[in-house]
Order: sequence, then structure tokens, then C-alpha cells
Amino acid sequence: MFDKDAQNVLSLVDREAVSQLVAPSGRTVHQVVGSTGAYYTCLIEELYCNCTYYKNHILQGELCKHLVSILIARSIGSVDVRRVNEEQVARLLTFSDD
Ligand SMILES: [Zn+2]
Repeated sequence: MFDKDAQNVLSLVDREAVSQLVAPSGRTVHQVVGSTGAYYTCLIEELYCNCTYYKNHILQGELCKHLVSILIARSIGSVDVRRVNEEQVARLLTFSDD
């Protein structure tokens, strides 16, 4: 990765596309808005993302740009933290493919 991919990642971070949704129980998921406007759901502790790139590359040990964006956004403190209810987090964790 890097070069073109790094630019993609930086644009995601720039657009403040990285959100962390936190439920009252402390369950948390990250959401990244992709370049097409689609939302991707990521579990940063498990390094999981529901995008196609992740599915196709994780066995080679590559992270998708969404996970990389979250790691960068966290390191520079640009994650938009949102308090949500338990149902919203639960629904995201069902990982519907779309
Ligand atoms: Zn992804």
C-alpha cells in the first residue's frame, strides 16, 4: 500500500469520516464513510471491517483503508465520538453486507 492508498486514507481522515459509536454498556464500534458515501463498520480491537477489500486481503495480512484510517484518526485525535443506544450498536454488529 501507500502512495495512492495513503492519499485515500488521508482523505478519509481529512473529511472526518471516522466515527466511534459508544453504547451505554461500553460496547463500541467504529464507522468509516467510504469514498462512495457507503458506511463501513469496523471493530478496531479485532481489526475487522465489513468491506470487500478486507475480506479479500486479510489472509495476506493487509488492512483495508478503513481500519488504517481509524488507526491514524485515533493517533491524531480526530475520531468523532458519538453516544448511541444499545440497539444501534447491536444492529451494526450484525454486519449486513451491502
Ligand atoms: Zn474496510
